[in-house]
Amino acid sequence: MILAGLTLEELENLMSELGATRFRAKQIHNWIYAKSVSSIDEMTNLSKDFREQLKSIAAVTDTKIKVKQVSKDGTIKYLVEYPDGECVETVLMRFDNRANLTACVSSQVGCAVNCSFCATGKGGFRRNLNYKEIIEQVLTIQRDTGLKVTNIVFMGQGEPLLNLDNVLKALEIFNNDFQIGARRITISTSGIIPGINRLAEMDLQSTLAISLHAPGHDLRKQIMPIENKYPLNDLKKALLDYINKTGRRITIEYILIHGFNDTPQVAKELAYFLKDIKCNINLIPYNSVVENDFKKPANSDIMKFKYLLEHSGKKVTVRLERGADIDAACGQLRGRGK
Ligand code: SAH
Ligand code: SF4
Repeated sequence: MILAGLTLEELENLMSELGATRFRAKQIHNWIYAKSVSSIDEMTNLSKDFREQLKSIAAVTDTKIKVKQVSKDGTIKYLVEYPDGECVETVLMRFDNRANLTACVSSQVGCAVNCSFCATGKGGFRRNLNYKEIIEQVLTIQRDTGLKVTNIVFMGQGEPLLNLDNVLKALEIFNNDFQIGARRITISTSGIIPGINRLAEMDLQSTLAISLHAPGHDLRKQIMPIENKYPLNDLKKALLDYINKTGRRITIEYILIHGFNDTPQVAKELAYFLKDIKCNINLIPYNSVVENDFKKPANSDIMKFKYLLEHSGKKVTVRLERGADIDAACGQLRGRGK
C-alpha cells in the first residue's frame, strides 16, 4: 500500500486496522505532507517496531524522478515516472523577491485536445492520472527540494477538465492535507464547456484560466481543433454564466504567435470579445516547439498588443519566460523523448 495520497481519515482507519492509536495517523500525516519524507524509516518519532510493522504492508511512495533539470533562473523541471512506466512533467517555479513557490502540475499523460502549438498535444493522449498521481508530483518537488509548495497551477500536460473528478479530488487534498488554499490554485482549460458548467455549480475559490489564444472562430480553429467542438460563441456564454454564478474573475491566457494572432487588429478584436467578461489577461509569448514554424513576436509587438488591451480597461500581464534553458515550456521535456 502507498501512503502518499491518503487523507487523515484514511490513515486513522489504517491505524485502527493495525491496532495503533489515532495519534500515529497524525504523525504519519505530518511526515507525508508537511515534512515530505520518502520512506517510513525517516518517520523517527514512530517506534522501530512499529516502523517495521508498517513497512511490511506499506511504502510512502512508488513515484520516481526520471529526469531533473535545473535552470539558471531557479526553475526546476522534473520528469516523474509512475509504476507503469508512464511519465509526466512537473515544474517548480520561483519568482524573485517572492516567497511563492509555484508547482505546475500535469493532469493527464499526453493530451487528446491536440493544439497545434503544443508539444504535449503532438504526442497524443495516453491516459488520465488518478488523484494520487497528481498529488505525487507536488510531493516529489517537496521531497526533492525540502521546500513547501505554496501555489499550484494545472498547466502541465493534459486537459484538467477532461479528468475533472481526479482534479477535484486532488484539489481537496491540496486544501486539506497540504494546507494550500484553494485561492492559490489555478485550473487552466482549453475551453471544455461541460467542465466549465460543472465548476460554475461549485463554490470553488480557485481561479479558472481559459486558453483562448484567438478572438474569432476561424482564427482559433486553425490552432485549436477543440474550437470545432466547443466554438467561441458557446464558450463565451459558458464563461459569462460561470462568472455570474461564482462572482469570480477569470484569467484569459493568450499565446502570442508572430504574424498570426499578434497584430493590432486582432488585439482590438480580442478587446471586443472580452468587453463584458470579468477577467485578467495573461499574454504568453510563444515558446518554440521543435515541430512547427511558429515564432514568438518581437518585444515591441508584444508591448503594442499589451497596450491596446490595457486601453480597453483590462489588467494585462506578460508571462515571464521561465526555464528557457531547460525546455520548461509546456510539454517540451517529454516531447523531446528525454
Ligand atoms: N490543457 C490546458 C492546461 C495545460 S497547457 C490548457 O490548454 O489550458 C497550459 C498553458 O500552456 C496553456 O495556456 C497552453 O496553451 C500553453 N502552451 C502550450 N504550448 C505552449 C507553447 N509552445 N508556448 C507557450 N504556451 C504554450
Ligand atoms: Fe492539451 Fe493544453 Fe496542450 Fe492544448 S495546450 S494540447 S489542451 S495540454
